[in-house]
Amino acid sequence: RAKSEGRNLYRFFEPGMDAMVQARRALETDLEAALPHQEFDLDFQPIMNIESGEIVGAEALMRWHSPTRGTVAPDNFIAVAEETGLIVPLGEWALRKACATAANWPPALRIAVNVSAVQLKSGGFARSVISALAFSGVPASRLELEITETVLMDESETVLRTLRQLRGLGIRIALDDFGTGYSSLGYLRRFPVDKIKIDRSFIRDIGNRDTAAIVRTIIGLGAELGITVTAEGVETEMQLDILRGNGCVEAQGYLIGVPSKAADIQRLLKSRALHSQTG
Ligand code: C2E
Ligand code: MG
Ligand code: MG
Ligand code: MG
Repeated sequence: RAKSEGRNLYRFFEPGMDAMVQARRALETDLEAALPHQEFDLDFQPIMNIESGEIVGAEALMRWHSPTRGTVAPDNFIAVAEETGLIVPLGEWALRKACATAANWPPALRIAVNVSAVQLKSGGFARSVISALAFSGVPASRLELEITETVLMDESETVLRTLRQLRGLGIRIALDDFGTGYSSLGYLRRFPVDKIKIDRSFIRDIGNRDTAAIVRTIIGLGAELGITVTAEGVETEMQLDILRGNGCVEAQGYLIGVPSKAADIQRLLKSRALHSQTG
């Protein structure tokens, strides 16, 4: 029997089979085992208030440290985790871990967590958020959930209801990678959000006259709507100066700080955090 199974396995990896399909199956298998094997970790990247220069929070960014593949960037596994459904337990793990980490930060600092559309569509997401907050003792006002437009693309009742419920608890909703989707403005009109994060492709090209005009317009739009605008991918003083000159509220990027281990970010946060009492 073992022999015939071995033969089947061999046949499965026959050269006729698409190499991409094989690689994909192997990735799915490794990913599935990675959660119970505790191969995932979170890095944290600081977010700065441009006017005051103070750090106001940090974004949790997932890392997969695979024993065979090395460190795998989220762009190379999140989509697969979404397709297999693994993102639901994986995202829940990230939420709990991020909140538990932020519980040790100065109390005014926010924790931002990326959330996939698949998580929001799966029932019980709000419950898992409430549970992560309760377990860590972090108040809802300190949590920011970053969603992309794919979350809003299909206007499912579950997603809408869940987003409303979360905002009702005092959790902030941020629209990530703003400006890269099909209908950024349309979503902004239909879904109340608290923050927009200008995609880093705009910041990279901010030296271009037309791109600078778009960035200025997004910042103005945020001001008109009472929405916080954060610039992603700020790498140079020149970019930060332009953003400051145009009244952008927050900045995030390698210039302010690279994604770092929890212990390192805690040191940075304690030295640079705003010391106000507000949550
Ligand atoms: P994102 O949420 O837009 O995160 C920002 C990405 O830009 C991060 O990439 C970050 O490391 C990178 N970045 C930050 N500053 C700079 C900069 O100055 N220059 C450049 N070139 N890049 C910068 P990362 O960590 O590879 O994550 C990629 C994406 O994966 C994230 O984009 C997010 O969409 C997704 N992701 C990460 N963690 C999670 C998670 O826990 N759950 C879900 N669902 N998605 C996640
Ligand atoms: Mg994000
Ligand atoms: Mg982004
Ligand atoms: Mg992104």
